[in-house]
Amino acid sequence: MAGEDPKELLLLCALQNAIRHGGIPQTGAVVGMVLGAHPEFRSRAKEVAALAKEAIADVAALSPEDRVVKLQALAPGMYEALFTKHEHKKVLPELECAEHGVVMRFAPNPSGPLHIGHARAAVLNDAYVKQYGGRYILRIEDTDPKRVDPEAYEMVKEDIAWLGLGITETVTQSDRLALYYDLCGQLIEKGGAYVCTCDNEHFKELKQSKTACPCRDQPVEKNRELWKKMLDHTFKEGEATVRIKTDLHHPDPAMRDFPAFRILDSPPHPKVKAHVYPLMNFSVVADDHLLGVTHVIRGKDHIANTRRQRYIYDHFGWKVPVYRHYGRMGIEGVVLSTSKMRLGINEGIYTGWDDIRLGTLRALARRGISPDAVKNAVLAIGIGDTDISFSWDNLFAENKKIVDPLANRYFFVPDPIIVTITGAPHRTAHAMLHPGDAARGTRTLVFKESVALPNGDITHDTAMVRLKDLFNLKISCDGNTPSFSYAGDSLAEARSAKAHIIQWLPAQDLVRCTLLTPEGEITGACEPLVTKELGKVVQFERVGFARIDAVDMDGVRAYFTHK
Ligand code: GLU
Repeated sequence: MAGEDPKELLLLCALQNAIRHGGIPQTGAVVGMVLGAHPEFRSRAKEVAALAKEAIADVAALSPEDRVVKLQALAPGMYEALFTKHEHKKVLPELECAEHGVVMRFAPNPSGPLHIGHARAAVLNDAYVKQYGGRYILRIEDTDPKRVDPEAYEMVKEDIAWLGLGITETVTQSDRLALYYDLCGQLIEKGGAYVCTCDNEHFKELKQSKTACPCRDQPVEKNRELWKKMLDHTFKEGEATVRIKTDLHHPDPAMRDFPAFRILDSPPHPKVKAHVYPLMNFSVVADDHLLGVTHVIRGKDHIANTRRQRYIYDHFGWKVPVYRHYGRMGIEGVVLSTSKMRLGINEGIYTGWDDIRLGTLRALARRGISPDAVKNAVLAIGIGDTDISFSWDNLFAENKKIVDPLANRYFFVPDPIIVTITGAPHRTAHAMLHPGDAARGTRTLVFKESVALPNGDITHDTAMVRLKDLFNLKISCDGNTPSFSYAGDSLAEARSAKAHIIQWLPAQDLVRCTLLTPEGEITGACEPLVTKELGKVVQFERVGFARIDAVDMDGVRAYFTHK
């Protein structure tokens, strides 16, 4: 590709950088690319930096189209490389005791669809199962009827299918109540649990003062009898609780004899008729054990649960899985609370679970984020225990790598004004569907007399613009009324006049197009061919990527993905 001369290499790197990121490359980035690939130039770093500035100035003088043409001609391989999918297979830290394979699980509550926070647990566990081989269990944790949305069972499954997780089996906890009851009976026999009939408030006071409640030391026979009364409905809601015997002197009061089973009569469970429900710590341990889970990757917010769960493992004498707790992840800019989302949907504030102001996976899908981008962004965050904030920029960068090579290019003119151009030859413009893939062909835009232009690009001090793939346009102002005339085809002239290259549409061929962004709607017009892209992500040139969500009599509705 390059000989001994850093000049040529610098030019190629500057071109590639400018095409990849748009705008004018930074000297450091270009020098870094060259020295990274050619360490032999390191001893001449100063000279290379000076030459880089010249190369960058040359690239800056070229239009974006000319940069593409030049790089394609000089180094087609480097041009191709821009569109090669880079799988950033981030290597996760090794897990102990995983050499012979793992059994892992993703255990969401069916209280709503999955959101980005869930994606972290889902994707990290999935990646480890892929790394070591083994089973990946989807466990629907629905033993708290207050937190079950009947529609969420399906939504969670759809979201998992969208993410493309390698789930090998699915279990639903409400199908397994008999197993938990049986284990509870066993634990009572072992003296590891007792039925507590104390008033809740009274128990709390005793717990605070590290004092055993009167039920703690009752004989096994008594516990057996009370447990039976819980199951046969003799006890009503709030009258009895099964507690795990822990350490009444534990410094954290929340560890002291925590509850394992409770009675709930309402709300009714949508899937089973039940009176006694296990609490999370019991059902999680029971299932992690029964299903043979070897490794548990979950958030730091579960550390206290892990501590509680160890007591249950110890009572049974079961092997404890390997735990890893990753740090908290702040996610800004979207709504994540299931109750807030539901309320907003019911009140008509949000259009549904896939409203793009929500942080659900279905909202991301709707705006054109690919599941692989979510996976790559989450894997890049990793399982570190430091608290971080989720980077939307990273997600968008990952998505761009995926959609950029695929998305066809079109013109979308926001807030269009129709102008008639004097002195212009009738002409047909052929614009590439994708600048990196000539084989995809072109779109045809027939210019007659009038065009639609983005209002925002025509200001009082705009003297000239270049209509992309067409010609230069002179704008004169007579008083307050601008007039538009043909100003030749020369790209060089447009450049020396510092004319912006803008998108346009033939006025006789407009399709109404609404672009929905998290900040609001932008109304405009687009090319008729966009109507053939339903469900796909396109790039509206100079505007950004967008997913075509609906095409109907009213035109096109698209969701803004990212720049
Ligand atoms: N169902 C629990 C949750 O979604 C996860 C339980 C666990 O990871 O142990 O928070």
